[in-house]
Amino acid sequence: MNKTETPDIINSSVYDVEKIRSDFPILQTKVHGKPLVYLDNAATSQKPISVIMKAQEYYSSMNSNIHRGVHALSQVSTEAYEGARIKIKKFINALGKNEIIFTRGTTESINLVAQSYGRMNFNEGDEVIISQMEHHSNIVPWQMICDEKGAKLKVIPINDNGEIIFEEYEKLINNRTKFVSIVYVSNSLGTVNPVKQIIDLAHQNNIPVLVDAAQAVNHLPIDVQDLHCDFLAFSGHKIYGPTGIGVLYGKVNLLDAMPPYQGGGDMISSVTFEKTIYNELPYKFEAGTPNIAGAIGLGEAIDYVQKIGIDNINKHEKELLDYATAAVAEIPSLKIIGTAKNKVSVLSFVLDDIHPHDIGTMLDFEGVAIRTGHHCTQPVMDRFGIPATSRASFAMYNTKEEVDVLIKGIKKIIEVFG
Ligand code: PLP
Repeated sequence: MNKTETPDIINSSVYDVEKIRSDFPILQTKVHGKPLVYLDNAATSQKPISVIMKAQEYYSSMNSNIHRGVHALSQVSTEAYEGARIKIKKFINALGKNEIIFTRGTTESINLVAQSYGRMNFNEGDEVIISQMEHHSNIVPWQMICDEKGAKLKVIPINDNGEIIFEEYEKLINNRTKFVSIVYVSNSLGTVNPVKQIIDLAHQNNIPVLVDAAQAVNHLPIDVQDLHCDFLAFSGHKIYGPTGIGVLYGKVNLLDAMPPYQGGGDMISSVTFEKTIYNELPYKFEAGTPNIAGAIGLGEAIDYVQKIGIDNINKHEKELLDYATAAVAEIPSLKIIGTAKNKVSVLSFVLDDIHPHDIGTMLDFEGVAIRTGHHCTQPVMDRFGIPATSRASFAMYNTKEEVDVLIKGIKKIIEVFG
């Protein structure tokens, strides 16, 4: 980032959370007459005004279909869309912009790899490794392609803290292993996985690795060249961008060799009834009119995150997590689910004899938005022998005062339930 782009906030040794909050209009909302305390960030993050305005700007002054237009508006929107791709390339340090494919989100990115790479490369008896802490979107696409191909899904177990048991991973790797797909940060436990180590071991055995970075990209710096991952997936809406837009990063040699995932406009270079020649990367994987406003909005969200600085965000969120973890430790009937040494931003818990849905509903009356349920990680719930947890998840704009409101709310619920 050059000097003129560097905002005051980075130069300041003080993280100005109030200034950040003022950029997020929704944080002024009242819920049941109380100030909103939004702690459901792992489900989706709120959007800064710059992202909201960008969507408005797109529709009010740029709206036009991209790539094939010679008129001025089409060129402006194409430039903005491709500009967003370049921002993302830089943000995750990809080698080239042709390695950045716009998708609807993490789910579609993983399905793309399963249906394209998996369909081309998996055979009867092959094995695909995932972990016990995966989101359903990093389980089901692999189950589907394994079922179709007669391949098997192998699962790395997790320990009582919610950490991958690395030795078990080592044991699972063999000459039938064709792919590893692993979550970077667990959405229900907050665990940060040692993805670099996981990738290294897979690569020693010539096995490609996909990293599900849906919960990582907004908390940790991501450098795909340093990770050496073969694929990486994330969603715009978890990183302060719009819904319905996401990214698949893939190494160019792998993407080049893969067949298209969907057919249609824009993914071709020529079509006759006899033969279709596919477009070059990344367009080969972007069939149809994409979410243009979404991609441009995601670019804007990345600008915003870079202004604040991902390391500054991480440090702030860590302070919140430590503060909240210390506070709940004083509540005897509360048990944290997910106590990994390396954790970010997620506080999942259960309370003796009180159902998470009651906790979520009662906190809502205090203006506190948390998520309750299985968080699309039913195997994690099974691992801990529980049906659901209550999950508070923190973002760059949350404060210790908001954590206090959460803790007060939890104590009130315990009192009410006696
Ligand atoms: N992976 C993880 C770890 C997630 O937390 C989520 C969403 O919660 C997903 C994948 C799926 O993301 P999306 O629904 O945006 O496709």
